[in-house]
Amino acid sequence: MRPEKLFPLFVSVTRLNGVGPAAKTALARLLKRDENSPVTVRDLLFHVPISVIDRRISPPLTEAEDGNIVTLVVTVEDHLPPPKRGGKSPYKVICNSSQGYVTLVFFHAKPDYIEKSLPIGESRAISGKVEHYDYMLQITHPDVIAPAADLKKIQSLETVYGLTYGISNRYLSKIIQAGLKTIQELPEWLDKHYLAQQKWPSWLQSLIALHNPKDLADLLPEAPVRRRLAYDEILASQLALALVRKRLKKKITTPVSDCKTLREKLKNLLPYKLTHGQQEVLAEIDNDLSSGNRMLRLLQGDVGSGKTVVALMAMLRVVEAGGQAALMVPTELLGRQHYAVISQFADSVGYKVLLLTGGMKGRDYQMATDAIAAGEVDIVIGTHALFQDKVIYKNLMLAVIDEQHRFGVEQRLALTNKATDTHILVMTATPIPRTLTMTAFGDMDCSNLTEKPAGRREIATKAIPISRSEEVLEGVGRAMAKGDKVYWICPLVEENEDENLPQDLAAVEARYIEFKARFGSRVAMAHGRMRAEERDKIMLGFAGNEYDLLIATTVVEVGVDVPDATIMVIEHAERFGLAQLHQLRGRVGRSDKQSTCILLYSDRCGEIAKSRLRVIRETNDGFQIAEEDMKLRGSGDILGTRQSGVPDFYFADLGQHYDLMRTAYNDVKLVLHEDEQLKSQRGEALRHLLYLFGYDESIKFLGAG
Ligand code: ADP
Ligand code: MG
Repeated sequence: MRPEKLFPLFVSVTRLNGVGPAAKTALARLLKRDENSPVTVRDLLFHVPISVIDRRISPPLTEAEDGNIVTLVVTVEDHLPPPKRGGKSPYKVICNSSQGYVTLVFFHAKPDYIEKSLPIGESRAISGKVEHYDYMLQITHPDVIAPAADLKKIQSLETVYGLTYGISNRYLSKIIQAGLKTIQELPEWLDKHYLAQQKWPSWLQSLIALHNPKDLADLLPEAPVRRRLAYDEILASQLALALVRKRLKKKITTPVSDCKTLREKLKNLLPYKLTHGQQEVLAEIDNDLSSGNRMLRLLQGDVGSGKTVVALMAMLRVVEAGGQAALMVPTELLGRQHYAVISQFADSVGYKVLLLTGGMKGRDYQMATDAIAAGEVDIVIGTHALFQDKVIYKNLMLAVIDEQHRFGVEQRLALTNKATDTHILVMTATPIPRTLTMTAFGDMDCSNLTEKPAGRREIATKAIPISRSEEVLEGVGRAMAKGDKVYWICPLVEENEDENLPQDLAAVEARYIEFKARFGSRVAMAHGRMRAEERDKIMLGFAGNEYDLLIATTVVEVGVDVPDATIMVIEHAERFGLAQLHQLRGRVGRSDKQSTCILLYSDRCGEIAKSRLRVIRETNDGFQIAEEDMKLRGSGDILGTRQSGVPDFYFADLGQHYDLMRTAYNDVKLVLHEDEQLKSQRGEALRHLLYLFGYDESIKFLGAG
């Protein structure tokens, strides 16, 4: 049970004054929550500010330089709406002040909004960034327009947050401040001496300070408050991971008997022979299974290296020995794909396979779980739903985890709770630097699949400036005419670029309309805001025979296998991280046909982005790319963190807080050595910390506290 002191943090944001249904939806979008995990006060308070704007002082208009923030009272003199056929001309509002003229500029403005908020002849307090344009001073989209009497109120330090459409910075600040008032101090979980040595404030004080920065320096990763919060977060994850590791200890089990009938049958059915690499890895797995020790093996292999069939072979041995195997995948779509492949051979080889989806309800779900409990199915495929309490296995001998970098600690915890004695095979296409694997999975043996299946050709990767996209489109048309399939990935858009528009969505939809007009009906679209079932249908239609061109956001990134796809176009490739580009590229080149990946880039991209494009063009080797990725990221680039297997953090930034990782690792070791069940005073506090960061599952390991 979650400790009472944490209750106020885990109530819905709608309990705060002024948060209605519309705000709830927008907040869910901003904080990446859905119906299953509604936004809580904690989520809101964990939204870290990105900047601070000082409106307390502003230079006189005559001395203001481009980019300065000015805050002053103006009188509205005139409105200059754009001409009727003005295309993209802005709406201008001419204002006068005691310091001279300033023009307010609005693009895509709604005239009634401007007429209402800036009526001619009236005074208003405004604040925003000035620039010179045609010898005039102007402010494009002022940050603040308020009654003149509010000038003093506006002249303050303003904390700036990442936003999404439907949420303004002022509103967000207001509800965050309101949220801070509803929570209380938590028991101190840090070691007293360490805390004293670091001179950090308490947790609550730190959180309050985080949202009330006095200047930009307070928000930098090295600011004490940031470091304290980062340390808390890292400590929580290290502690949870240590508890996973304790569960994942090697231990004695009976060797799995080594019969090969099922495997031989499968080998005869496969349209190809296993590569040397695949055979070697399988031999390593077999060794583990025969050894009498529990297997804990990490299989790293680049996208397309053929990990699935290795896993299937491993599962068949277990099945033949009378056990069950579970294959856990990060998305239902991937589950369905694996199911399609694995069920295809089930009858002829002689095993039973079942797909357990989160969408299964009532009778279907009951029948599925009954069959698992009765041992009527041999292989179960599914998301982490596989390891819920309700699912009971008759004899689970092997758990395979695919695309492990997509799973959070929480899901791993669920798995280790269930599979206490089970052999474990973890697969990943995203090589993780050694230091991080250690912390993520502890003492696993490692296999590498470096060889690609024979007959594969290198994917040709080209970088082409966006100004030449017409040529690319012609190529796409030719490929489609030949019956090849094409992915077109739309740019990543930072959601806070414009408060009013979901731009990534707009980008996909615009392309969809454009390409449908150009290429006809065999064009489809998939994006993250679609319902999952709808999206899966589209993807399967693309894998099947319905569509030839798929316009998509990065939702196609995870493991989908469409062997006919030969062209991957990535628009604004400079905005993607290296690991992500590599994953995307791995969606093509899955047959013996020559495949091409085209990186459409903007000529205005920066140096690091250019280096990324160069790396991706020069090599197809995922391991090398992972290393380069770390190097480039070390130089201050954080794009692509989400994809690289590094867990997502709210406060911590592994580039900047690496030292804290080490400290936390040692701290945890000591704590668990002295107080294994977390029963001391500090242990109690650490339980609060685990709950605070959502590692509820890990508490189960500890028994009643
Ligand atoms: P990943 O390692 O990315 O999970 P998959 O297991 O999805 O890769 O395999 C990618 C493709 O390669 C699949 O279509 C699979 O059928 C095929 N494949 C796997 N092993 C071989 C092999 N030895 N020879 C030829 N094709 C293979
Ligand atoms: Mg795979």
